[in-house]
Amino acid sequence: MSRVAMLIAPHRIEIREESIPTPSPGAIVVRVRAALTDGTDLKAYRRGHPQMPMPTRFGHEFSGDVATVGPLDPAAQPHGFAVGDAVMCVHSAPCGACYWCLHGEEELCETIMATKILGAYADYIEVPARILARNCYAKPKDLSYAEAAFLEPLACVVHSVEFLGHKPGSTVVVLGDGGFGLLHAQVLRRHGVHALLVGRRPERLELARSLDLDTIDARTELTLAAILARTGGRGADAAIECTGSQEVWQQAPSYVRRGGVVSFFGGLPSSTNVEFSSSRLHYDEVRLIGPFHFGTKSVGRAFEMLRDREIAVAPLITRTFELARISDAFAALDNGEGIKFAMDPSAA
Ligand SMILES: [Zn+2]
Repeated sequence: MSRVAMLIAPHRIEIREESIPTPSPGAIVVRVRAALTDGTDLKAYRRGHPQMPMPTRFGHEFSGDVATVGPLDPAAQPHGFAVGDAVMCVHSAPCGACYWCLHGEEELCETIMATKILGAYADYIEVPARILARNCYAKPKDLSYAEAAFLEPLACVVHSVEFLGHKPGSTVVVLGDGGFGLLHAQVLRRHGVHALLVGRRPERLELARSLDLDTIDARTELTLAAILARTGGRGADAAIECTGSQEVWQQAPSYVRRGGVVSFFGGLPSSTNVEFSSSRLHYDEVRLIGPFHFGTKSVGRAFEMLRDREIAVAPLITRTFELARISDAFAALDNGEGIKFAMDPSAA
């Protein structure tokens, strides 16, 4: 049997027993060894999610071992994975044939969202041929399962940083000290960019400083004044919004210099309208952009970054929970504790 965590109502998770999935042609079934919590899961836990009507299985950042391999699919390329292999995947893949896929914008693929898989908070999860063909890798031995599960969030950040266009030597403000903020600051630094991480949680800022990141504590410093003081009074070259808060979205354009770029990484509820000063956009040529999801190349780059340990991901995992205690993990996140938690179905 496979235990599967189901979100049945806001703040209510139930563990159900299902039979272990039988893989379709070209698919594999993975025995989950680590599944990470993230902001989307927490949002769904708090208020539901339009793309995840309840009851729903959830969890999408995972890695594990191949438990079973489905029959050959004559229409698909052989994936080469065998029972017992340790693998790391993301939960989506572009189709490769639609207008956007053919124009280098795989993240906007017509079917990438409709075909994504959810349900990594479970003993087993099926990974379809489409994902195996493009977005699944053998896990390097010296990478832990929990570290390997960063493939998906890191791919989002790789895409975001590429979308921004990074100039070595520039100063980029990262708004938000959660997992995505900490990943952004580290990836930017890899590109020779000076990242300034703005946050208000003491333990997260402490962690950022332990990773040698430059921080602004928004509880004790005025964010705008602190940014101006560090940028010769001009403002940052760019700002990346990683909180998903309407208030921060509306503040973000004030933090960049004339000619700067604001990138909205943290999504807001889909009905949200935001207001900006038109003069900042027109007279100051501030550009507003919004990166979404990622394509296959970003997954490949994220894999290399994890394999080669270009950035630190293990410190972002505050704690590991047994799968049966997933409700405790989300109650703690809801309470503002921790950065990311790892669910380990095999832990006692
Ligand atoms: Zn497509």
